[in-house]
Amino acid sequence: MKSHARVVVIGGGVVGVSTLYHLTKKGWKDVVLLERSELTAGSTWHAAGLLPLFNMSYTVGQLHKYSVDLYKRLPGETGQEVSFHVNGNLRLATCPERMDEYQKYCGTANTIGVPFQVIGPQQVKALWPLVNLGDGADTPRIIGALYHPDDGHIAPADLTMALRKGARNGGADIHENTEVTAAARTASGEWKLTTTQGEIICEHVVCATGNYARQCGRMFGVNVPAIPVEHQYIVYGESPELKAYREGGGRELAVLRESDQSYYLREERLGWILGPYEAGAPARFADGVPEWFGKTLFDGDLDRLLPHVEAAQRRVPVLEHCGIKDIVNGPISYTPDGSPLIGPAGGTRNLWLNEGHSFGITAAGGAGWQLAEWIVEAEPGIDMLAVDPRRFGGYCTKRYVVTKNEETYRSVFTIHFPDEERQDARPSKTSPVYDKIDRLGAVWGQRYGWERANWFAPAGVERRDQWSFRRSNYFEHVGNECRLMREQVGVIDLTPFTKHEITGIGAEAWLDRLVANKVPVKLGRIALSHALTERGGIRSEFTITKVGEQHYYVISAGAAERYDSDYLQRMLPRDGSVRLRNVTGSRGCFVIAGPRSRELLAKIVDVPLDNAAFPWLTGQVIEAGYASDVYALRVNFVGALGWELHFPIEHAHHLFDAVFAAGKEYGVGMVGVRAMESLRLEKSYRMWGSDMTRDYTPFEAGLDRFVRMNKGPFTGREALERQLAAGVPNRFVTLEAHDVGNADPLGNEPIFAPGGKLVGRATSGYFGHTLHKSLAIGYVRPEYAAVGTELEMEILGLRRRATVLIESPFDPDNKELKA
Ligand SMILES: Cc1cc2nc3c(=O)[nH]c(=O)nc-3n(C[C@H](O)[C@H](O)[C@H](O)COP(=O)(O)OP(=O)(O)OC[C@H]3O[C@@H](n4cnc5c(N)ncnc54)[C@H](O)[C@@H]3O)c2cc1C
Repeated sequence: MKSHARVVVIGGGVVGVSTLYHLTKKGWKDVVLLERSELTAGSTWHAAGLLPLFNMSYTVGQLHKYSVDLYKRLPGETGQEVSFHVNGNLRLATCPERMDEYQKYCGTANTIGVPFQVIGPQQVKALWPLVNLGDGADTPRIIGALYHPDDGHIAPADLTMALRKGARNGGADIHENTEVTAAARTASGEWKLTTTQGEIICEHVVCATGNYARQCGRMFGVNVPAIPVEHQYIVYGESPELKAYREGGGRELAVLRESDQSYYLREERLGWILGPYEAGAPARFADGVPEWFGKTLFDGDLDRLLPHVEAAQRRVPVLEHCGIKDIVNGPISYTPDGSPLIGPAGGTRNLWLNEGHSFGITAAGGAGWQLAEWIVEAEPGIDMLAVDPRRFGGYCTKRYVVTKNEETYRSVFTIHFPDEERQDARPSKTSPVYDKIDRLGAVWGQRYGWERANWFAPAGVERRDQWSFRRSNYFEHVGNECRLMREQVGVIDLTPFTKHEITGIGAEAWLDRLVANKVPVKLGRIALSHALTERGGIRSEFTITKVGEQHYYVISAGAAERYDSDYLQRMLPRDGSVRLRNVTGSRGCFVIAGPRSRELLAKIVDVPLDNAAFPWLTGQVIEAGYASDVYALRVNFVGALGWELHFPIEHAHHLFDAVFAAGKEYGVGMVGVRAMESLRLEKSYRMWGSDMTRDYTPFEAGLDRFVRMNKGPFTGREALERQLAAGVPNRFVTLEAHDVGNADPLGNEPIFAPGGKLVGRATSGYFGHTLHKSLAIGYVRPEYAAVGTELEMEILGLRRRATVLIESPFDPDNKELKA
């Protein structure tokens, strides 16, 4: 084994080998893979090899599409066959909500360019003659299906060998029977890995260790939220009917997924493989993989499988005529949201994760492609936030991950409603006034571990969501909250905001290089600022307030805590001139907004709140009630007169009571985040993570007024200059969708020119309750961005007329904000 390498990949499953392959494709030859046993010895060897393109995530969808395309060309490139059967994938629907889910997916698939067909029962029968369409009594009636003609299944071990060949051809070294047992930093900042075959020094480490993710992470001091769950499939013997069908000239049947019964079925040597996602599958190896578990399987658990076996037999009656040959029960890596961990491990330089893959055969190609790009070019080529390991934080304790992973596993085939809120491991992180808010009727949701009130059920209304792709039971109540905010005064508890204090002699200059806007120099000024990637894409959004000399208070999205904290930490100068403190847990935040908010606040603060004394976009450190050291910021995300109060967390109860006592005469009430979504869309406010991502520059996002090209150097500036010279390829628009019935856009809808040409995509959408318009925001080619342009948007499979509106259709002159 070499003593030095540029990159060491730990783990020789399909994901590790794909990462190695793609590093060589990017031109890095000095790369090494270490495998404790033999290649594929982890989960890869026993995988069923299915390659479903279906995925509701825009990011994961792109990774899967890349994989399927790559696997088709790999044999030609490497000479190694991979047994890719392009037999297609057929997902059945037996209820209208499932069809809605498929149609929602189709919008995303259209924007990615994945071919699919939505078909009716008779086409299902034509494609899959052995299927029982159902009578609606014993067997639910099939009402339609989603068909992907281009995917199928592959031999995972052959695929890994093809990638190995490609990597070796590109100059990579692979060492089997070489276990990494310890990791340390050298004095010069490289990694020193101790292995069973000696030591190796390297610049970068990639962990692709599958079921070993947590124990591997521990070697580097990193808590990796990936713990495997048991996953089984049944192998059936020969099926006489299938044999007759195939011998009669029938083509290989598509992989059949009966989502509503949570199983898949595919052909295997004239028999079948049946793979359920069962309730009750336990997490395994939370404390590490025991020594005895080599290329091993668990005992099969037929009891758990039985309900799915029976459902499958009703749907495909010929199954009854074949015997069970084998049950394969192996560990499958999971994360709390079911998506993998691809990208930098937070808090440690040059440590990369490619872990937590539950569809690793499908994802390996795309995951290796983007991770290699990230390592070599310092940026991924597409927005990877949905799989970035830093989307999880310190709340991912072992018990939390076990509970969530078991829930995620059994939910693989549940309908993925856009307003779905899973219940397990909750509440975990709460604002101090959670109980008070709960008593006001909150219907809770969860983000980044935090409980957030989605909406408030008035007295007598059931506190429960009916999840849907359409307007649902809470529509009217969310509308009332919007009107409360626009007409009186509302309170939103945004304690989950990410909050940092940045101090020191170098703070201003350092921040100024980090963001595209000018950092405030005058005490009390607030600047909305964006940290960009080197390619000019939007990486983070920060609201920066100068609260004292050499003292900035920086707010960003609640879900970005680790992501932003990690970035700020990495960028800190080493000379001690800037200090960074994450105060997310020690400061609470109430938004108090609406036309009566000034009168309300005047009753609990002693500073003047008029425009001359406290103008829009300024902040002051004040006392409020008995609370001291309150940062009062005249900004908000709903487009109303209002303030955000950021207070020391110990004052939460008092302040909450004081606000409600003072606001009683103005009709104050709580407002949830669904109303906030509606209100912010009426103002065309972009949301970090959906509307602002690294896929788009601030010029594309229409944020030109927050970019100061003449202020001196900042990250991403050169890329912006190049884009300005070449022409900005997309423009941000606000759209009204017409005649939508009860289905508003929600984001990820494709946008077409009247002739049918795809010209953009919506990134968010909601009903604007006070404008009475169905709204979307997103990106289109510049020639379609003029106000008044007539376009079409596909919502749940139907083309709807959509008109480009002016920016901020509610109060375009910001009169309310500045009132
Ligand atoms: C029953 C079953 C069926 C499945 N079917 C499908 C399917 O149809 N389609 C699909 O897409 N996915 C499927 N999967 C999931 C798929 O198997 C995994 O997602 C995929 O194999 C993960 O690959 P990996 O490279 O991340 O991990 P692994 O294949 O587990 O590889 C990790 C490797 O790291 C090595 N390693 C660990 N620690 C060290 C160390 N310290 N030093 C050196 N080496 C180390 C291990 O020995 C192992 O070889 C299935 C899983 C199961 C259990």
